[in-house]
Amino acid sequence: MRRVSIFGATGSIGQNTVDLIARDPSAYEVVALTGGHNVTQLAADARRLRAQVAVTAYPETLQPLRAALQGSDVEAVAGPQALLEAAARPADWVMSAIVGAAGLEPGLVALEQGATLALANKETLVCAGALVLETARRHDAHLLPVDSEHSAIFQALVGEDISAVERIILTASGGAFRDWPLERLAQATPAQASQHPNWAMGQRITIDSASMFNKALELIETREYFGVSPDQIEVLVHPESLVHSLVGFNDGALMAHVGAPDMRHAIGYALHWPDRRNLPVERLDLARVAQLSFRAPEEARYPALSLARQVMERGGLAGAVFNAAKEIALDAFIAGQIGFLDMSSVVEEALDWADACPGLIDAAMTLDNVRKTDHLARQHAWDLMAKRAG
Ligand code: NAD
Ligand code: MG
Repeated sequence: MRRVSIFGATGSIGQNTVDLIARDPSAYEVVALTGGHNVTQLAADARRLRAQVAVTAYPETLQPLRAALQGSDVEAVAGPQALLEAAARPADWVMSAIVGAAGLEPGLVALEQGATLALANKETLVCAGALVLETARRHDAHLLPVDSEHSAIFQALVGEDISAVERIILTASGGAFRDWPLERLAQATPAQASQHPNWAMGQRITIDSASMFNKALELIETREYFGVSPDQIEVLVHPESLVHSLVGFNDGALMAHVGAPDMRHAIGYALHWPDRRNLPVERLDLARVAQLSFRAPEEARYPALSLARQVMERGGLAGAVFNAAKEIALDAFIAGQIGFLDMSSVVEEALDWADACPGLIDAAMTLDNVRKTDHLARQHAWDLMAKRAG
């Protein structure tokens, strides 16, 4: 039996992971399931999968979690420290599907136990790529990409030599506003940005798709994970979201991963890797699909992409600043405090500020420094927005 844990089990990726594991209960021993406010879902899944422990990130939800687990053998715990302790329980395979920088530390703890870490939480590599890769190496742990683009690239690279790779092409749906006139973007509301044309995902990544901050994070994730240079990574808008990404080799060949927009492709590949197993996903009928279209992203529509390029050039802790400022700007947009286009200007200003702070971005990439930088960048992004509002 494989021991598995799911961090962020109640979210969109988490629920898809629960779905795959619940289809074959005799193959898995579930160690920890973690969630947030949705303790009803967390408790139901913990009972169904007979988890050892259910963790809620928020202490105020411990009582309801306990109540929902009464009469079962599942332990209930709460808070950030309990989350890290649950992450330290031995497991063979761990899904990292918490949203935001909060996913970094539990993932690092799992790698330190030597667990295979299936990484949906892209922020982990954006904030602390070198540290995470080094931790995996030191503990002989595998790190497997779950973002659909990175899973596609990873699969296209099986049996290949990375030195034969000329370029990597990340596909992007273009998000909710891909066809809006540019003049309307400033007025876009959180509800409008939360409608993804193709994928069903958590609200934060859906809004990040509309602004392309999601693709921006993925550019950095690609650089960190595959070790290619920034000018080898391209972004291509592909409205149908069926080609999940492509790898271009030195003989001119392009290898693409094509499939339905269903995250169980990437989650299942990481779950069964290095094997392939039957997955409950739609088999594409390409005659019915009939057409696939591609276009270059417009720079003016997606300023987040050039900010990501700036971050890749800068290196060091610039990714931690970028992500922290983006998370704060996204919170403010969701709360109706800033407009859609203000998100990229807040992030841009935060990057300029960080660049001018002596030693901030160039500090050694330790967990302490990542935490400190994350904290300072959040503070600065709040101050920027308060100044604007005032
Ligand atoms: P979601 O919002 O649906 O779920 C997030 C999960 O994290 C929930 O279980 C929530 O309770 C938990 N959580 C939130 N804040 C937390 C905190 N501070 N501490 C501990 N737990 C916390 O998000 P999602 O769409 O499933 O995305 C999860 C991660 O996977 C993100 O990093 C996202 O970018 C990435 N991802 C998602 C998709 C997708 O299809 N949804 C695709 C690719 C990558
Ligand atoms: Mg993706």
